[in-house]
Amino acid sequence: MCFATSDEKYYYVLVSKGWIIYLAIAVLIPVIVSLIVWYWSLNNWGNHPIARSLAHYALPQSSWRAVASSVNTEFRRIDKFASGAPGARVVVTDTWVIKVTTYRVYIAQQQDIHLTLTESRQHELCPDLNTPVQFLTIRVGIINPHITPFDIRLNSTEYGELREKLHTTIRNAHNVVIHQSLSDMFLDTFKIQVELNQPYHLSGNQELEPCIGCMQTAANIKLVKVCMDPNEGECQQCYCRPMWCLTCMGKWFASRQDQQHPETWLSNRVPCPTCRSKFCILDISVVS
Ligand SMILES: [Zn+2]
Ligand SMILES: [Zn+2]
Ligand SMILES: [Zn+2]
Repeated sequence: MCFATSDEKYYYVLVSKGWIIYLAIAVLIPVIVSLIVWYWSLNNWGNHPIARSLAHYALPQSSWRAVASSVNTEFRRIDKFASGAPGARVVVTDTWVIKVTTYRVYIAQQQDIHLTLTESRQHELCPDLNTPVQFLTIRVGIINPHITPFDIRLNSTEYGELREKLHTTIRNAHNVVIHQSLSDMFLDTFKIQVELNQPYHLSGNQELEPCIGCMQTAANIKLVKVCMDPNEGECQQCYCRPMWCLTCMGKWFASRQDQQHPETWLSNRVPCPTCRSKFCILDISVVS
């Protein structure tokens, strides 16, 4: 004969109860997951969370699929802004701001958002670079109350590129000092310098064509040799019509320089991107 002590009984009860709980979980989780997936698949996948957030942007007579195809088309373009690790990727296209995390996709339409720079974090140690890295957090507030606001994070050196892709400005609520990339810093100085030069008045009814560099803004730069008399110095007169915008001309100016010595950039001469005649910063005029 064998008598179980009360401790052993308690143990057997615990073990048998444990099995029941284990079995229940093992059955319940797949059932719940299948039910959720079945619910999403109803209405031709119209109940899926991504489809539902896209549906808020659909026109009255169309469906979320039209919005999805617009997102797809823009996502495939090479001129989109993309940043971040695979688990927190940020993509900005002409119309959309998208954040893709491991479990969720956030989508907002550019005309429906207001952006606020809320936080900046400095990381002193970055194995690839010797300089400290600054990460910025930007709050994407959404006017449409059905869509959840979200945060995007990016390296401060990508801030200039992001701003170029956005149609709206980013409010700097806490006056965060942004450490820009070298080329962005140069571009700011370049623009200030060029705007101090004499503007160029376009004759007659000449119309400005789109800039051939970015195709987004009107070409508004004319090179006129004013730094010295026509036959003196290294600079030459360019006879090209305005073909570039100020930003693209600034990028060209920076790209033709000794990348190791940015302190010499402003004082150097570079060739005109079209006719190759040399010019300096004094010879760049904004068309008025
Ligand atoms: Zn341009
Ligand atoms: Zn030229
Ligand atoms: Zn010159």
